[in-house]
Amino acid sequence: MRQFDFDFLVIGGGSGGVRAARMAAQRGVRVALAEAQGVDGLGGTCVNVGCIPKKLYSYAAHYGEGFAEAHGYGWEGEAPRLNWATLKANRAREITRLNGVYANLLRGSGVTLLNGFAQLQDAHTVRLATLNADGSPGHTQYRAERILIATGGTPYVPHFQGSEHVITSDDIFDLDTFPQRLLVVGGGYIASEFASIFNGLGAHVTQLYRGEQILRGFDDEIRHFAAAELQKAGVDLRLNAGVLSIERQTDGLHVQLEDGNLLVVDAVLYATGRVPNVHGLGLDTVGVAQGEQGAVVVDADYRTNVPSIYALGDVTHRVQLTPVALGEAMQLVDHLFGPAAGKAPRQMRYELIPTAVFTHPNIGTVGLTEAQARERYGNITVFRSEFRALKHTLSGNPERTLMKLVVDSASDRVVGLHMVGAEAGEIVQGFAVAMQAGATKAVFDATLGIHPTAAEEFVTMREPVRGG
Ligand code: FAD
Ligand code: NDP
Repeated sequence: MRQFDFDFLVIGGGSGGVRAARMAAQRGVRVALAEAQGVDGLGGTCVNVGCIPKKLYSYAAHYGEGFAEAHGYGWEGEAPRLNWATLKANRAREITRLNGVYANLLRGSGVTLLNGFAQLQDAHTVRLATLNADGSPGHTQYRAERILIATGGTPYVPHFQGSEHVITSDDIFDLDTFPQRLLVVGGGYIASEFASIFNGLGAHVTQLYRGEQILRGFDDEIRHFAAAELQKAGVDLRLNAGVLSIERQTDGLHVQLEDGNLLVVDAVLYATGRVPNVHGLGLDTVGVAQGEQGAVVVDADYRTNVPSIYALGDVTHRVQLTPVALGEAMQLVDHLFGPAAGKAPRQMRYELIPTAVFTHPNIGTVGLTEAQARERYGNITVFRSEFRALKHTLSGNPERTLMKLVVDSASDRVVGLHMVGAEAGEIVQGFAVAMQAGATKAVFDATLGIHPTAAEEFVTMREPVRGG
């Protein structure tokens, strides 16, 4: 009799879990993947209530400004109106299609799909809560040589008077009625993206942030520029601001602010961070060490203090991005089961993680902020270009673009590249390759631009604004 049902049992069918399960199965090991939401949950946060539906709604919002801008190009007529129900239905259809694609990819690789909420029983045993044929609750137990925890994260909402009335990013995609008046609380990725998106879709959006400036952690100049663009586009951004209490009244939610003002809105979105999804997972039972906010603590090989149990992605509460969860999964599988034929084992690199905030306009960034670079290298040179994109000379849209290069003066290496502007995510992706390859400013200078584009500015900035 075999000691284990599986060689590798993955808990969580999100970005990290799916990638790890699929790749491990391709190495010929016996793999199972348990997903609490069943096939409908495959793809996890990113596919169901994160990156993908968010980007689809961002595209929807861009059409709004596109219709207005088209007048400058000679197009006549009234802008069409948004049908929220159509947008929701089309998004849901696409997400269901993606869930199916994930299920097929997993099954096609030989992964056994287990539907149900998984709980650790001991270092090798997982109990799966399932439904019996008659609909009553049941459970099954599986033993695996190795277990991977990839259960992701969940929104965090502080507790205060009326906090039961708020929604999170999990709820916003499927609201019954479009929130004409939306209050967004928070100043991170999710708050800033949804403030932009719902503003673009036609809502009156107020965004409250508790500190001096939104998007803490990004380059300061980029933060100020992006905040100004958000405000110019119509978001009522209020800094050093917070909510005291919320009460439901017949005309909407009455939100009492710390500064004494009252806001009446249709919905309040709290985007105040996410916490690791560990509730009910049985970490205590097995003695898996946890850190801040319950995060599963792992070493550089994603191993927990229990040698047969591993963890990666958002549940470890480090960099919460899909490509990071994917990169971690690929390193883990190469390390545990060997790399693909003829390939070297992959190593996740945390140094130059490119990222975009899909605000309108986008923010794209890779490498160090100016302040971080100054602290690390001392002597730096900063190049900066701010302009109105060619498209907007006729569109009438007052949006402006900012691009910035931070260079280590001693080595001439470009150590930070930042942009606020249309398609910044698309543009920065390519430059991230150059930076990964260690490109110097001289290499940027030797690169010809593609004219006329906004991206060419990154290779035509000649005069430093600071240092040099
Ligand atoms: P998840 O994708 O969260 O998957 C975890 C899975 O585990 C879930 O399916 C859950 O149902 C399942 N699960 C949990 N507990 C159990 C259990 N006990 N048993 C069985 N199954 C369980 N990142 C980007 O890179 N770009 C973006 O544009 C972007 N946009 C985002 C927008 C929003 C609104 C949000 C919330 C996140 C966004 N992210 C984005 C972050 C990205 O979604 C996450 O970093 C990524 O999904 C993490 O993957 P993961 O595998 O760690 O966890
Ligand atoms: P973030 O950590 O990015 O932002 C949380 C925000 O909420 C911060 O502005 C924080 O303020 C504020 N905040 C925290 N606690 C409170 C509180 N008690 N009261 C008021 N404000 C509070 O988290 P998000 O929820 O925006 O997103 C989670 C993660 O998901 C992101 O960090 C990112 O990694 C990922 N993501 C990525 C996206 C992308 O790649 N485009 C898009 C969306 C999410 P302060 O700064 O002062 O602490």
